Amino acid sequence: MMLDGKKVLVCGAGGFIGGHLVKRLMSSGAAMVRAVDVRQVQDWHQVSPEVENRTLDLSDKANCLSAVHGCSMVFQLAADMGGMGFIQNHRALCMLNVLINTHMLVAARDCDVERFFFSSSACVYNQEKQSSTAGSPLKEEDAYPAWPEDGYGWEKLFSERMCRHFEEDFDLQCRVARFHNVYGPFGTWKGGREKAPAAICRKVLEAKLSGNQEIEIWGDGRQTRSFMFVDDCIKGTIDLLLSDVHEPLNIGSDELVSINQLVSVAEQIAGVRLRRRYCLSAPTGVNGRNSDNTKILSYLGWKPTTQLVVGLESTYSWIACQMGVDRALALTGGVLEH
Ligand code: NAD
Repeated sequence: MMLDGKKVLVCGAGGFIGGHLVKRLMSSGAAMVRAVDVRQVQDWHQVSPEVENRTLDLSDKANCLSAVHGCSMVFQLAADMGGMGFIQNHRALCMLNVLINTHMLVAARDCDVERFFFSSSACVYNQEKQSSTAGSPLKEEDAYPAWPEDGYGWEKLFSERMCRHFEEDFDLQCRVARFHNVYGPFGTWKGGREKAPAAICRKVLEAKLSGNQEIEIWGDGRQTRSFMFVDDCIKGTIDLLLSDVHEPLNIGSDELVSINQLVSVAEQIAGVRLRRRYCLSAPTGVNGRNSDNTKILSYLGWKPTTQLVVGLESTYSWIACQMGVDRALALTGGVLEH
């Protein structure tokens, strides 16, 4: 199956991954892309003016029907979410994403959508299997018995099950990806919803620019994660939508690093060495998490190709530019001359 001539809906298109996905779809032969987000278009991370851009709250059923109408392929990425600092402190808001996922599935069923993609998360995995910093790679079956991240992870796991049962009972073709920490340019980098790679790039830049030479690290820095560059994520996402794989699949990097190592990579890119101050009371999530990509490699031939140092370099440069824009705006009272 190809996307040639298909009408494609991207929900959450104003966000980080959705914005990159819309850009990639435009070069993939899709006949029409409709991009939808709850935020006003001027607040989107990226805007592709050549597609149909709409502001709709997808927690509302009528809006979901309006968004899906006329589209045969749906990428459902809309969610109220953020990094650990957000999801550990806003569990009810994360659970409310179930309204978006429920109404979107019903709308997709009622509009005879051909394929429905749902962006789940590594946060669905049983926390007991993530208690060691050795971070033994998580296989898809490690989601059960269920003990996911409270709030956000439970909602994702529940919505995965809805996808499964909508496929079994209503024949809606669903594809489910479990994304592991995605990063790259155009991601959230400040404001409380940012994730570790962007937060660390920003903090290294702030320390460098201020001459303070110190960085605050959440936790003891020994917790481990893998980080996937957004271009790899987008390729895996489209490959999975077009595939015949009916079970949830990991889409993640398997390059495991500690947060201390992540800081060292950012320091290397910035050409600085900073004093490390550890904030042990900050939200840190599980001790170790890595992606086992055995299934997606064997089913789709997909594996991530961007090394952390390469992806982080472009993320760091992009955040440096954004900080420059912010400083210029502050100096000119919010107006930039072109
Ligand atoms: P993001 O926050 O940048 O994008 C999500 C978008 O959804 C936002 O633009 C937001 O405005 C929009 N949204 C929220 N509520 C909405 C509503 N009611 N109606 C319409 N739009 C709404 O997040 P992202 O990093 O691009 O993540 C995309 C998807 O991938 C999410 O479902 C997320 O849970 C999942 N995911 C992301 C990561 C990651 O590391 N970024 C990891 C695992 C899973």
